[in-house]
Amino acid sequence: MNQTNEKTEISVVVPVYNEEENVALLQDRICKVLDDLGKPYEVILVDDGSTDRTFEILEELHQAHPQLKIIKFRGNFGQSAAMAAGFEYAKGDIVVAMDGDLQNDPEDIPRMLQKLDEGYDVVAGWRKNRKDKMVMRKIPSKIANKLICSVTEVDLHDTGCSLKAFRKEIIKRVKLYGELHRFIPALAKIEGARITELVVKHHARKFGVSKYNITRTFRVIMDLTTLNLFIKHLKKPIHFFGIIGVFCLFAAAIFGAGMLCMLFENANATLDELNVLLTLVFLFTGSGFGFLAIGLLANLVVETGDRKQIYLSESK
Ligand code: UDP
Ligand code: MG
Repeated sequence: MNQTNEKTEISVVVPVYNEEENVALLQDRICKVLDDLGKPYEVILVDDGSTDRTFEILEELHQAHPQLKIIKFRGNFGQSAAMAAGFEYAKGDIVVAMDGDLQNDPEDIPRMLQKLDEGYDVVAGWRKNRKDKMVMRKIPSKIANKLICSVTEVDLHDTGCSLKAFRKEIIKRVKLYGELHRFIPALAKIEGARITELVVKHHARKFGVSKYNITRTFRVIMDLTTLNLFIKHLKKPIHFFGIIGVFCLFAAAIFGAGMLCMLFENANATLDELNVLLTLVFLFTGSGFGFLAIGLLANLVVETGDRKQIYLSESK
């Protein structure tokens, strides 16, 4: 398909790291599905510093298929960074993300696009019949999913499924770093996205190996803690820091009152006893004002930052 003068409608973004046996097959299957749709498209394969022949194969594929774009990282920066680079480069009005190991099925893409047409901004895949190991994969993933959903208040069965479709306006605003690709629906929700899910196919990995192990579950939980703070207090950080500040000042007042009582009622109070209370009064007063100042500063950042419009219009 010659797309030089056509506006790209669909961008498919795929991070790949040491997937030499998968990339050619993957490209073939994605292109078949998108050719049948008949809309101008591009497939962006982001090579996340592969050390096998992945990049050479991608270059060969690019010669034969101009709609295939390649981004190459100098090193292995991780799936989130690779996806972020692909999203930034994507020109399509609709951006589809998927894994490069053929576990996701490109044949699901048309149904995801139809779902977007129903008025959604994000369609997340749900691997209802997941083909991974039960103990090492499915169970930790189910627990992580429950946790993520309760913390982020996004109700999905399978936030970890990479196959997702987004409207450009939403995904371009989502800032991915660290390992945040697992929380894209939550990050999209912050941007005001309407989110739904769709049951998709899932296949066992035929070639290559998974790049993750069980320790990922712990990293997910750590990220979740940060995200919790981010989501709940993003619009009005003063509410979060202010409460801690007020609590500290209240504690300082109690210690101050205790010190005065001690002075009036017990003239024999030792200097050491008074010193302890005085230190606590100073400590809590200082911390209290410190937290209030952080809250005010954070509010200022939100109100003057580049996301001002979204947050202010949402909080009305
Ligand atoms: N991946 C990547 N960089 C990494 C790890 C993984 O680009 O550091 C890619 C990988 O090639 C695959 C996708 O991210 O296309 C998902 O990885 P994997 O299949 O290993 O994850 P799993 O399916 O086991 O959760
Ligand atoms: Mg996989």
